[in-house]
Amino acid sequence: MSAVVTGGSRGIGRAVAVRLAAEGHDVAFCYRGDETAAKETARRIEDLGRRVFTRAVDVTSFDEVTGFVDDAESALGPVAAAVTCAGITRDRSLALMPPADWDAVLRTNLDGAFHLCRAVSFGMIRRKAGAIVLVSSATGLTPRAGQANYAASKAGMHGLAGSLARETGRFGVRVNTVAPGFIETDMVAGLAPAVRRKAEESVPLGGFGRPDDVAEAVAFLLSDRAAYITGTVLRVDGGLD
Ligand code: NAP
Repeated sequence: MSAVVTGGSRGIGRAVAVRLAAEGHDVAFCYRGDETAAKETARRIEDLGRRVFTRAVDVTSFDEVTGFVDDAESALGPVAAAVTCAGITRDRSLALMPPADWDAVLRTNLDGAFHLCRAVSFGMIRRKAGAIVLVSSATGLTPRAGQANYAASKAGMHGLAGSLARETGRFGVRVNTVAPGFIETDMVAGLAPAVRRKAEESVPLGGFGRPDDVAEAVAFLLSDRAAYITGTVLRVDGGLD
């Protein structure tokens, strides 16, 4: 069984890729440009005795994503599980947001998710088997100030996943979304100390989550243990409002 993950070089994507390898998948993952981090993820997958296929791919390009999935399937076999994890933030009040920051976030987070779903769904429908998880954000459910582009992209992923789930259910293909809250990765490493403290205090379970907390939920939704679950959004956010 092979799995494909976008944004697998670091953070949540790396945890997901390694977790899926531990569950018996050969894993293809792409990343934008951090080759050193990608090599480390690949090493961890190989250490688990699984095969790995990696490539630097810009998920904003439909052709690059479809080419990556085609070549991954040639190398590792048909994709049984797919995870869209690649994502970026460009936080700014909307009144001051450069259109380029709006475009970059929507194109990476939402178009990128569409590109992976589009690349894998036809084969899954034909084989009448497969599961997809989109990694969105709690911000897509409860928008925060200064993140209009990010919140719109993540809310859009919920619409994308819900619609696709309704199209593919009768073919035995499941589509779900995991919405993380604050998770300890490079994405939140730049938070100012005061902002971070306030964020930590806002989490009922206290503090930030770990990438493995999200990987656990993703692995569950991709597995047969979730055979009767599709079209849902699972929050992994420590109980954030
Ligand atoms: P991260 O540590 O910053 O890693 C981002 C990953 O996405 C990297 O693998 C990066 O590749 C890849 N990437 C970025 N732009 C790309 C592009 N255009 N094409 C291909 N790959 C691209 O982020 P993270 O915190 O793990 O976040 C992963 C996902 O979870 C994102 O969708 C994010 O929105 C979501 N999320 C994160 C949090 C959080 O608190 N961390 C909370 C909610 C949701 P390179 O390594 O090559 O740059």
